[in-house]
Amino acid sequence: MSESVELLQALIRNACTNDGTDSASEEANADDVASILSGCGADVEIFDAAPGRRSVISRLPGTNPSAPTLMLIGHTDVVPAHPARWKHDPFGGELIDGFIWGRGAMDMLGHVATMATAFRDYAHKGTHRGGDIVFAAVADEEALSTKGTGWLMEHQPDAMAADWIITESGGSSIGPIDAPVISSLTAEKGAWRMRITIRRDPVHSSMAYGSILSTQVAAEVISRINEYAHPIVISEAWSQIMGTWWDGPDQNPILNPELIDKILPHVPALAAKNIFALSRMSSVVTGIETEDSWNTVPAEIRIEVDVRTVIGQTLDDVYDHLRLALGELADTVDMTVIAGSDGSSSPTGTPLWELMTDAARIQRPGAELRPIMASGITDARFYRHRGATAYGFGLYSDLLPVEEIPTMLHGDNERVDVESIQMMGDLWSAMFGMFAERTSR
Ligand SMILES: [Zn+2]
Repeated sequence: MSESVELLQALIRNACTNDGTDSASEEANADDVASILSGCGADVEIFDAAPGRRSVISRLPGTNPSAPTLMLIGHTDVVPAHPARWKHDPFGGELIDGFIWGRGAMDMLGHVATMATAFRDYAHKGTHRGGDIVFAAVADEEALSTKGTGWLMEHQPDAMAADWIITESGGSSIGPIDAPVISSLTAEKGAWRMRITIRRDPVHSSMAYGSILSTQVAAEVISRINEYAHPIVISEAWSQIMGTWWDGPDQNPILNPELIDKILPHVPALAAKNIFALSRMSSVVTGIETEDSWNTVPAEIRIEVDVRTVIGQTLDDVYDHLRLALGELADTVDMTVIAGSDGSSSPTGTPLWELMTDAARIQRPGAELRPIMASGITDARFYRHRGATAYGFGLYSDLLPVEEIPTMLHGDNERVDVESIQMMGDLWSAMFGMFAERTSR
């Protein structure tokens, strides 16, 4: 069995789940990655943003200071899983009929395992020329990266410095065998974690008559937020991306605000979800917190709202729409931002795009890359906001059930096949060699 597969199994078994609380820890995964990298010839640096919130960064210095730096970045945390819903233990890392099962197999411990071993093997050769190559295994991507890439960019900017960045998403092949099309994530919506706090007088619940109940206000706030109809906004980035998939963007109903919602009932459910999400802001309540005893209507209720913005919208737009959603209630609650960032995109056709295309063609002859946009977020956004070029990329075999990928990500029965792991490792190796060749001139 390959070392990448064994490392992936170990990373899954470490169960570095991130529920957004301080109990999360990526230490075990970071340490496994660090031990794979040790002695490879490149410096290995370890950073703890907080106890247990460990990231590992390894930089292989190049010979051309004016060349760009290539960085592969993978997050080592995973979202929690519900074992009773799975066919196999989500933290067992079992290899069954050519598939490695477990939380993170796709998102994105498979990337981390193959990036780590490919980087180590390449560094070990000791012949690198051209620009620097960096591999980073980072914490906390699943909870807005405030203890991961966000923290590292602020506190360890030199270690994180890079111009060309590759991280998760993309890599699926569609289309004919002799002219496959491979997706790469080039753009993503913004994400803002907002909190709405309701404060009212606490009320003994045995004598509630005539009182304004915080719970009743909360119920109204929640339904107004969830039901608010955000206006359709067709961003420039989305028009461009859709234009690469379909001819005649002017005729495309997906880009026409008058037609877009009319076609939703007529396309597959998953496509409808995507089209809806990418054509407007969304605001969804994801949590409710309170204290006080069972027989007290609480003095304070905090409502978590996950707001996703279209590229071009800002935090001001978030506040504006939440106020519109709440109507007169907006003046009776507190609205604060916990963390977040605007949407971002990188153009296609860059030297990094060419590098990915050429490296992918070794295993997928004749392949073309096509951009995709995500309603979710990745660590690529930190780099795009700084003007660097960042894509989500990878390579998957034809054994992987592509139609099941969306249900595996943060869902049940996540798994990846051994062949995809092999392909992904070979992709990174090819990319390192080509990068050296192209940047040492
Ligand atoms: Zn991920």
